[in-house]
Order: sequence, then structure tokens, then C-alpha cells
Amino acid sequence: MDISKFDSNFITQLVKDAVEEIMAENPEPVEPNYGIFDSMNEAIEASAVAQQKLLHSSMAQRQLYVDTIKKTVLDKQNLEVMSRLSVDETGIGRYEHKLIKNALAANKTAGTEDLVTEAKSGDMGLTLIEYCPFGVIGAITPTTNPTETVICNSICMIAGGNTVVFSPHPRAKKTTILLITMLNKALAEVGAPDNLITTVREPSIENTNIMMEHPKVRMLVATGGPAIVKKVMSTGKKAIGAGAGNPPVVVDETADIAKAAKDIVAGSSFDNNVPCIAEKEVFAVSCIYDYLKKCMKDNGAYEITDPAMVQKLDALVSNEKGKPKVEFVGKSAKYILGKLGIEVDDSICLIIMDAKFEDHLVQEEMMMPILPLVCVPDVDTGIEMAFKAEHGNRHTAMMHSKNVEKLTKMARLLETTIFVKNAPSYAGIGVGGEGYTTFTIAGPTGEGLTCPRSFCRKRKCVMSEMLNIR
Ligand code: NAD
Repeated sequence: MDISKFDSNFITQLVKDAVEEIMAENPEPVEPNYGIFDSMNEAIEASAVAQQKLLHSSMAQRQLYVDTIKKTVLDKQNLEVMSRLSVDETGIGRYEHKLIKNALAANKTAGTEDLVTEAKSGDMGLTLIEYCPFGVIGAITPTTNPTETVICNSICMIAGGNTVVFSPHPRAKKTTILLITMLNKALAEVGAPDNLITTVREPSIENTNIMMEHPKVRMLVATGGPAIVKKVMSTGKKAIGAGAGNPPVVVDETADIAKAAKDIVAGSSFDNNVPCIAEKEVFAVSCIYDYLKKCMKDNGAYEITDPAMVQKLDALVSNEKGKPKVEFVGKSAKYILGKLGIEVDDSICLIIMDAKFEDHLVQEEMMMPILPLVCVPDVDTGIEMAFKAEHGNRHTAMMHSKNVEKLTKMARLLETTIFVKNAPSYAGIGVGGEGYTTFTIAGPTGEGLTCPRSFCRKRKCVMSEMLNIR
């Protein structure tokens, strides 16, 4: 064919059309973003699309996604990488304890088995009451448990048929993005819808505000201090608030004192005291007080005996508002003592001192391995003081005693979500204790130990006068 007969504009258009046709059939490969978006609005819109797909997945598929999250976290290399980055980026906690906490979140968070259907059958027919998804959930996570909370929330929320948009603390940005990318990659491999878990590349308070106001976010979950819990509760949306604690320990004369000392040191020094459930102050009766202290020292506690040095310590680690200084949260006992000019070896994991009930270190949630001890005349005084020092958070408390009457008294008075008897605090989240785990313990809004059901709506399906077969 002699193409010179054709108009050049016509040929140009012909070639352009052909190129566009080929491009449409073979688009440039787009690099998957694995749930990480430039803007919060994009993260939420993608989550809403994913939730519609999840809604039409079978329960077996949902459980497969839950199992995939668990398996991905428990992969040795993944577990080590996320635990290491969490400590390196936030400067909080201990690597070897992060390994335990992340594995715990994967092993013991409840999945779809938690969603038990209720059935009412009678002359008027059959009614089913089922736990159904809320939709897109906006979850705010703390610096102290950045990976543990994402693992635990993702499992529970997806098991419940929800998708989740995370708004992490900016200081845990890299760690959260790494984990979410890991999880979405693994989920894609088993055929899950894209974007079951999303977040933003640059977390900020502004992005959290966008998330809280977005109409497609049907539920908000805040795991953190009092400010963020109050904020989500004032949005007018369904909110779950998992807030601060100040867990007290009471030790009476009936306890196995050597064991109590060992358990208290282990629980209080775990992950450098950042768990919200960790022992934060002790009330011990006078007749066993010195022996308890001696046994604690035998197990890695360092006692500061000089009251002036205790004051110096308090001033070092507290800011002008009396709150813990960020740079000391989750630091080791050795590091903190070093700043006071006290050199100790690696066997020291906790700093203890005599204290009075009204002392700042007793009353404030410090989240560092500093544990004040208050000597009380009798167990009833100890229980009363523990009640007051817990400040009505109704979060966590521990008691070491063999006196069932006093154990019951303390449990009833404090009304904490978790009450641990004769064990370290972490038994309350399933390390050396029975039951499922959670890293979102919702005292303020009352869900307590959150599980898939906590993130679901109860819906009713009624068949009148039929399907009852009795
Ligand atoms: P934090 O309150 O400083 O931050 C928690 C999250 O809220 C972060 O993502 C932060 O960016 C965000 N945030 C805080 N204030 C905000 C505001 N005004 N607007 C928007 N976003 C805001 O807490 P943290 O230091 O990261 O974590 C420690 C606290 O969390 C402790 O009080 C601890 O007891 C509590 N905590 C509770 C639980 C629980 O299950 N109850 C679990 C872990 C931690």
C-alpha cells in the first residue's frame, strides 16, 4: 500500500490509537502498595472496598486470613525483624521480651471461633443472633506496643469481618509500615482481598483526625493514654477506649514471699515495665516487708536507699507536669541508674525503693523499671491504698496471698479488668496463665478483654413460626 496517499494527521492518529489500544490491554505493571497509602482518605476508601469483599468471603476464608497473619508473625525471621525494629525505632522496651509479646499476640489472640451464634427456638419460630461486622474500623496504636497491638487488632477485627485502618504513633512509623506490608504480602499470597489492613505513609495527629471524622469509618479503637481515649469517645461514633493503668500489687503475710518477690520482679521488669498491665507499685505488710525486699534483690532488683537519690531519680525521669519523660519510658534499669552515676551489671533489671503512699512515683504511671514499695501495717490497709493508687482505672491489679477472703476482698473492691493472684502480671495476658490474650484492654468503655466479638454488632435474623423442630 502506498501510504504517501494518506494525510499525515490521519496516520499519526492511527498510530496513537493503536498504541493506546495496546497499552490498555497490557498496562504498565503497578507496584502493589500492600496497604500503605499517601493519604488517610485513600487508605480509608481502599479499606471500604476491601471490607465489601470480605463481607462476601466465607467464614473459612476469614479464618484462613487470621491463620495467615499468625503464621507470618511467627515466622522466625519476621518475628526477629519486627521486634528489633520496634525497639530500635521507638527506643522502648527489650528485644527479647518483644519476641515473647509478638509471638503471644499471634498465638493467643482469638479468631473466628469467638463468634458463637445464639439461637432461640420456640412456638413462634427460630431466631438467630449473630456477631456481624461493623465495617471499616479506625485503630490508633501506642508506641509502647506498636507491633503487638497491630497483630492483635488485625486478627480480632478481620475475624469479625471488618477491615482496619491503623493510625500509629509517628515514632513507630517504620515498624508499623514494615509489619502491615509483611501481613498484606502474605494475605495476597493466599488470595485475600487487597487492603484488609491499611495505614498512611506519614502518620500524624492530623491524619488521626481525618480518620476520626471520616463517614466510612464506623468504629474507632484507641489503645493509648487518657488524651486519645477521651478524644475517640467524644467523636459521636462507636468507640472502644483502652487506656492507662497504674497496676498495684498487694503482698500479705500468708503469701509465699520468695515466690512473690520473684514474680513481682519478673512482671515489673518485663519489657522494661511498659506493658499497661505491669506492676507499678507494691503495698506489702510490715511483718514480711524486709524479707520481700531482700528476695526481690536476690532476683535482680537494685535498691536505692538514700532518699536524696530517690528524689534525684524522680526529677531525672519526670517532666514539669509530673509525667514520665519520653526519653526514659521503656529504658532499662541499668540505663536509668547509669544516668544517676550508679553503675550496675546486666543482671539488674529493676530499681526499687521505700516509698510513702502519696509519693509521686507511687501515684503516677511511669512505664519504666522503677518500682516503689510501701510498707503497710496490715493487709486491709494495703488493699485500701491499692484501690486509691489504681485511680479508678479498673485496669489491672495483682495480689500475693493465700487468704481467699482477702483475695476476694481486693478483687471486689478494685473491679479491675485483670486481677492476677500469685503470679507475675503477664499471666493476666496469657504468659503462664490460661485464656486468650489481648493487647487492647478496654477499661474506660467496658469491653475489657477485647476479642473478635468486641468489634462486632449483634444482629438478629427471625423466622416466624417455622424452622423450630422440637
Ligand atoms: P499516647 O497516648 O501518647 O499515644 C497513643 C496513640 O494515640 C499514639 O498513636 C498517638 O499518636 C495517639 N495520640 C495521642 N494523643 C493524641 C491526640 N491528641 N490526637 C491524636 N492522636 C493522639 O500513649 P503511648 O505513650 O504511645 O502509650 C502508652 C499509654 O498507653 C500508657 O498510658 C499505657 O497504659 C496505655 N496503653 C494501654 C493499653 C490497654 O490495653 N489499655 C495498652 C497499651 C498501652
